[in-house]
Amino acid sequence: MSYLVLARKWRPKAFSEVVGQQHVLRALINGLDQDRLHHAFLFSGTRGVGKTTLARILAKSLNCEQGVSSQPCGECQSCQEVDAGRFVDLIEVDAASRTKVDDTRELLDNVQYAPSRGRYKVYLIDEVHMLSTSSFNALLKTLEEPPPHVKFLFATTDPQKLPVTILSRCLQFNLRRIELKQISDHLAFILQQENVEFEDKALTAIARAADGSMRDALSLLDQAISFGSGTVNALDVSNMLGSIEQQQLLHIVSALINQDGKALLEQSHDLSVQGRDFNAALDGLLALLQRLATLQLVPNMELPDEDDLEKLIEISALVDAETVQLLYQIALHGKRDLPYAADPKSGFEMTLLRMLSFQPKQINADINTGSTEPEKPRTKIQQIMPQAASPAIETKQKATASIEVKTEQQVAPPVPRPTNQVQEAPPEPAPINQQATVSENKLTASNWTDTISQLKLAALSRQLANNAAFVKIEANTLYLSLTPELAHLATDKTKQKLVAALEALTGSSLKVVIEQGDASTQQTSKTLASQQAEERTSRQQQATDSIHNDPTVTAITEAFNGRVIESTIKPIDSD
Ligand SMILES: [Zn+2]
Repeated sequence: MSYLVLARKWRPKAFSEVVGQQHVLRALINGLDQDRLHHAFLFSGTRGVGKTTLARILAKSLNCEQGVSSQPCGECQSCQEVDAGRFVDLIEVDAASRTKVDDTRELLDNVQYAPSRGRYKVYLIDEVHMLSTSSFNALLKTLEEPPPHVKFLFATTDPQKLPVTILSRCLQFNLRRIELKQISDHLAFILQQENVEFEDKALTAIARAADGSMRDALSLLDQAISFGSGTVNALDVSNMLGSIEQQQLLHIVSALINQDGKALLEQSHDLSVQGRDFNAALDGLLALLQRLATLQLVPNMELPDEDDLEKLIEISALVDAETVQLLYQIALHGKRDLPYAADPKSGFEMTLLRMLSFQPKQINADINTGSTEPEKPRTKIQQIMPQAASPAIETKQKATASIEVKTEQQVAPPVPRPTNQVQEAPPEPAPINQQATVSENKLTASNWTDTISQLKLAALSRQLANNAAFVKIEANTLYLSLTPELAHLATDKTKQKLVAALEALTGSSLKVVIEQGDASTQQTSKTLASQQAEERTSRQQQATDSIHNDPTVTAITEAFNGRVIESTIKPIDSD
């Protein structure tokens, strides 16, 4: 049996058969039925959305022997000849292969003559933006004073490239990408007519790959039919497209949320064994995370492609909106960096591991339940969260957002600014600033951290200074201690730099002896590092307290069943 490719066999022959483009159809049908027709039409839009198909149906409507209407009979000689592509008064030109001015002139020379058979001479110029400037000029002359028996139908994927003089003389129709659901429904319809068995998921995958183009979808469907020897199933199609099944992507996202590194790497291994493209895997992951974010933040939005929606809703309840944003960012960077990775698989795995390591571990202290645990293990959250599924997400997320805004403002006033305290000269040890000597103002356990904070040091010697605890000073020998795990900070070089900085500050010569301290020494005498850590903890505690005691925050969380995301609470000047 001779096989006609689906795209040609199922090319719409009437406006009623066209999928999508309702906005264009309505205008054309009204124009035809009311016999108010412009002399030049421009159909713009991406490949395979029906530009030339619409133009051909329009040509048929204009020339049907039964009269001009939006429903050409399809049976008269003119209609049949247009459908067969041999109607003498439909002149089709592919401008991509015909850009010389002579060609266009030759074409337009005949414009003046009446149509041989039909009512109208119809010029269909595809990819019209490819015409040369002089061709446009020749065309423009005709467009300015078109003979009444001539109609121009232009199609282009790139209307920006058309001269404005041409554009302004055309009635312009912008054809849209055809929606995924419309494509998959149409594929299903065709397969039913063709008596070919299929799985819905396979058609969804083809429609997604076609990216809005019905022509691409149909030629992929042709391939799928021969690939699957007469049937169209999801596995074959995903093998054919080299695409990653949605299920696999869902597994990856689940593994990320469950912090299951082993499962992540197993998924990556599977993709590799199946010969999948890791760039496409990241694309798929990005698309999935985008849908997850949409689901969380705009829950009323209807998402196309329903087959995995339930699982997606389940996942969306287990992870907060912030984390989804973070994962998306990391995936985007991973995609950018993929060409630089040693090989695509390791680049992909590195991206997954980065996602794993950057997820905030502490989340979701729930104000309403009065829970004050700063850290909850993930598994616990999963047990808690399902009750909050679907509709509640909207209010939750909004409330979280507004509470986050409050976080910054509310914390501002009550929190002290330790950074300034350290930098500004404290009142008592002021003489140190004025190059006081040790003998005048002895280094002591109590002024040690203030002194250290004023030293001009960098890198390792700064680390040494920050982590060294004051033990005692005898004659001109300063005894310091370091914990065993930080002993490596004390090298000859870092010691020299510390001594030099201390000497510069105190104006007298010093000797420094660094001992290895035990726990008790380190506990009784402070280091700058431990002091700063304490300050950070205390500022964070103040910030957390002020958020939890804030009546506005409480009111919002109660009203919207919201929660404060603990990890977002920050003192105002921390960074
Ligand atoms: Zn007809």
